[in-house]
Amino acid sequence: ETPYPENEAILDYAPGSEARRKLKEALTELAAKRIEIPLIIGGQRITTDDMGQVVMPHDHGHVLADYHKASAREVRQAIDAALDARKTWQSMRWEERCAIFLKAAELLAQTYRYLINAGSMLSTSKNVFQAEIDAACELIDFLRFNVFFAEQIYREQPRSAPGTWNYVQHRPLEGFVFAVTPFNFTAIAGNLPTAPAIMGNSVVWKPASTSVYTPYLFMQILEEAGLPAGVINFIPGSGRTVGDICLKDRHLAGVHFTGSTAVFQQMWQTIGEHIETYTSYPRIVGETGGKDFVFVHRSADIQQVVTALVRGAFEYQGQKCSAASRAYVPRSLWKEIKAGLEREIGSLKIGAPQDFQNFVNAVIDRQAFAAITGFIDYASQSSSAEIIIGGGSDDRVGYFIEPTVIYTEDPHFKTMVEEIFGPVLTVYVYEDDAYRETLELCDRSSKYALTGAIFSRDRAAISLAMTALEHAAGNFYINDKPTGAVVGQQPFGGGRASGTNDKAGFYTNLLRWVSPRTVKETF
Ligand code: GLU
Repeated sequence: ETPYPENEAILDYAPGSEARRKLKEALTELAAKRIEIPLIIGGQRITTDDMGQVVMPHDHGHVLADYHKASAREVRQAIDAALDARKTWQSMRWEERCAIFLKAAELLAQTYRYLINAGSMLSTSKNVFQAEIDAACELIDFLRFNVFFAEQIYREQPRSAPGTWNYVQHRPLEGFVFAVTPFNFTAIAGNLPTAPAIMGNSVVWKPASTSVYTPYLFMQILEEAGLPAGVINFIPGSGRTVGDICLKDRHLAGVHFTGSTAVFQQMWQTIGEHIETYTSYPRIVGETGGKDFVFVHRSADIQQVVTALVRGAFEYQGQKCSAASRAYVPRSLWKEIKAGLEREIGSLKIGAPQDFQNFVNAVIDRQAFAAITGFIDYASQSSSAEIIIGGGSDDRVGYFIEPTVIYTEDPHFKTMVEEIFGPVLTVYVYEDDAYRETLELCDRSSKYALTGAIFSRDRAAISLAMTALEHAAGNFYINDKPTGAVVGQQPFGGGRASGTNDKAGFYTNLLRWVSPRTVKETF
């Protein structure tokens, strides 16, 4: 049996370290130039006359790149290129295909780590730790673990009775896979096109318009690693233009999506409307929104809860599907937890990520800023909620929003149930003896079921939570924050409105990208 790969170690960027010096060089280099990002279709650089800009969220007057957007014509070209590339890609041995992705992981780890981290920090406003665990470690892990799981899948074979031989051929899907990726993780942006490609599929990849920069860097790394032309076609553009053509194309074989619930449901609907036209039923794999809970029992360790809430709610400005955004706290612990939150949030520094002291950076763009501050305004004007920490914002230079805590006595208050995708945590305080009822309330009050956490030192209380919240989270944490799943350690994904729960970075996801043929030969 092949042993599990090791997770890529997180690099320490301590003051005075070589890592910090190299990263600073990369930050200076990228900030000083304005690059042009073309489409990459069939290995060709394609430009169009419809352009967009990549700006720094924490300094929105600073343009990092101009990128070309696909029009209908380029989308069709990308589909054709993907279909063309299928034949050679599929005729390669799986070991040779996998070698390309392992090489890409090595290039990321050894050669381009500082560059992609700097790109992630500048273009998506991540602090150095958030960049390192995402654009470096998690992306490297996705590549290595997916190759590991692919190998297991290819090797796994059925038994054969004497006089016969049975085998399963894990064929790629018949058509192309459409990958639509989010801004918040370079790792996810890299995983969604590569996972199907590892299993022999060719891909049309539309990155989020708010994050084109690091996907472009990664696309070039894949090329350098030897990815044949046309296997992954990189086409930034409007979701409507690209989505409409890809989803209605009869060769669509699969969708690999991370993004909003609304967009995912629309995509599913479009596919449903055209279901008779496809060669096979398209595989639909999606990870969407969350309204992730931290549930505290009176037996919890208070400091553990405070740390989990601060990190879970405010790391990367709460822009994680997994972010802690609603907390259920027993009356008896509230005073101390509140004091802990005030103390720790009060010490967080806000500002540009190039200054390594800043824990909180900007939210991604003007639209996100408006939506998040809209929730904060709503709470400040409501008589059933109170803003107890933060609440301020300033978008003059960058899209900055203070880590904000809202207190409510209404468990169905808007910010307790709707996804905000920003640095906003809402706390509902329950009476200690209403533990069971409140668990049920937590389960029922959200349509999402991505992540959640229970804090308790009492096994019976943990068991109650495990049962009552059985379907409330695809990733359930006991005495830990609900963010930061590690590839190969906590397979990631949720159910209900949060997605199809195929678990990113796990063999279950890779199985969605093959259509096996069982062969029986009789002698
Ligand atoms: N996998 C990430 C985590 O565990 C969240 C992914 C997402 O935001 O889509 O924090």
